[in-house]
Amino acid sequence: MLYPELFIVFCFGAIIGSFLNVVTLRLGTGESVVSGGSKCFSCGKKLKWIELVPIFSFLIQKGRCRECKSKISLQYPAVEILTGLVFLLIFNFQLPVFNEFSIFNFAKIFYLLAVAAFLILIAVYDYRHQIIPDIFVYPFIGLSFLSLFNFENWKLIIENFNFSGLSAGLILFIFFASLWFFSGGRWMGFGDAKLALGIGWLLGITNGIAAITLAFWIGAIVGILLLYLSKNKYGLKSSIAFGPFMVLGTIISLFWGEKMISFLF
Ligand SMILES: [Zn+2]
Repeated sequence: MLYPELFIVFCFGAIIGSFLNVVTLRLGTGESVVSGGSKCFSCGKKLKWIELVPIFSFLIQKGRCRECKSKISLQYPAVEILTGLVFLLIFNFQLPVFNEFSIFNFAKIFYLLAVAAFLILIAVYDYRHQIIPDIFVYPFIGLSFLSLFNFENWKLIIENFNFSGLSAGLILFIFFASLWFFSGGRWMGFGDAKLALGIGWLLGITNGIAAITLAFWIGAIVGILLLYLSKNKYGLKSSIAFGPFMVLGTIISLFWGEKMISFLF
């Protein structure tokens, strides 16, 4: 049984998720991401270690600051749980590599964790600010580009270069860049085009198209729901960011892309 291992992986993911929260909240505020203790956004009280335990602290404090009782954003536990779950998925899908331990297999897991971390940063930041910062999307594109090489065989690294994967990224990029260009940035931002480039390189053409299709479907369903809710009680929100849906589609396709496609055809 693997339950204790999986629990540790989830906790590790939740801790990384708590760090990703700090990164998205401090980016552009002039505050350092790595130094300076965490404090309450309302009253500025420095947080003790007991108030910084992912998920757990939020639950025992019932989502409020212990000092000023102001509400703590649901983003904290949500991103912590999400990151924990994505890390669990990565380990679960990569479990066979542990039977055959090698530096290459180990590096592959860390590679996927890094990809997931940047995707989560992009989704959370785009959700909050409707923009995808270059500082998140360029590392993601760089990591995706690495996936086009076959590092298992150094001698054939040029011969085995994945040219179809390379073109997949370019095709998705051109598709989103056209949407951005012809709509004057109203339908899509240029950041979405950059994200699509990385998605194509990471997933290849079939899974890449599957990820984008899923993003449009899920985006449409959520859009209709929001429109329905806005008529009843919420103020009409003019637009919703598309980045989080692209990230969701990418994560689903990364793990279940082949299954999904063979199920459909
Ligand atoms: Zn406070």
